[in-house]
Amino acid sequence: MTQSSELIWHNGEMIPYQQATTHVLSHALHYGSSVFEGVRAYDTPNGPAIFRLTDHLKRLYDSAKIYRMEIPFTLEQLTQACKDAIKQNGFSDAYLRPFAFLGHVGLGINPKSRVADVTVAAMQWGAYLGEDSLAQGVDVCISSWNRLAPNTMPTAAKAGGNYLSSQLISGEAKRNGYVEGIALDTNGLLSEGAGENLFVIKNGVLYTPPTTACILPGLTRDTIMTLAKERGFEVREEAIAREALYLADEFFMTGTAAEIVPVRSVDQIPVGQGARGPITEELQAAYFALVKGQSPDPRGWLEYVND
Ligand code: PMP
Repeated sequence: MTQSSELIWHNGEMIPYQQATTHVLSHALHYGSSVFEGVRAYDTPNGPAIFRLTDHLKRLYDSAKIYRMEIPFTLEQLTQACKDAIKQNGFSDAYLRPFAFLGHVGLGINPKSRVADVTVAAMQWGAYLGEDSLAQGVDVCISSWNRLAPNTMPTAAKAGGNYLSSQLISGEAKRNGYVEGIALDTNGLLSEGAGENLFVIKNGVLYTPPTTACILPGLTRDTIMTLAKERGFEVREEAIAREALYLADEFFMTGTAAEIVPVRSVDQIPVGQGARGPITEELQAAYFALVKGQSPDPRGWLEYVND
């Protein structure tokens, strides 16, 4: 569950949580015209550090570019806003939600102004798929909903409207007693979870769906591919059939909010031994050591709040 903050950065100012509101006729509320990021800051020996903040903010600008939305703040300004949202709320770790949306610009589908309102909220958010998920693994199902089709809604954009698809996928799964739903693309091949990318392990090789499988190219996915290769694992981005999940040795999901979550069953078929597997455990440990500043950070992925 999330626990909110006292202050929210809103169009250049830090304002009280209760005042961070918008008009009911905001364009984004009616048409999904928002772009956003989910970023985590972890408590490290050198104070709070935001993991891959610059990469997340670049993806925010990329998402806005696809929708021809103007973010009237620089990367430096939004970087500082993220750090301030953590510092001024007194958090040592946090989930950050940078968010840009078309606000009170009229109800025409294509308003003249493409200038976004921008907010950055910080909050405390524990393990997204439950406290036990990281060690015990979770039970998932294949969704009856496919992921977005190519050239309909661009999945490389982390846009508000795309999350109607995610709501259908995760809502259906939860109603049926699963922790998460896994979506196939419109070719029937593996795509992604409602809010997570996927890794299948077979005979020591890691497989993950390519960006052509209509996924959000996740930063956690990229981090895990990097950490796995560094440890000598082969990583292949290739099309994956549904049944590969049932026959996998290990299967895990990645996401900023979810982190690295082992999957212990798919459609009630146990994955491997039906528990977190050894490679998943090794990569999970490497990930948490990195984000918490307990291992070297040669790529400068930790961006310290107090710098
Ligand atoms: N796919 C979807 C649909 C998501 O919402 C997320 C979470 N942002 C991811 C994948 C994972 O992306 P990341 O690792 O950058 O958080």
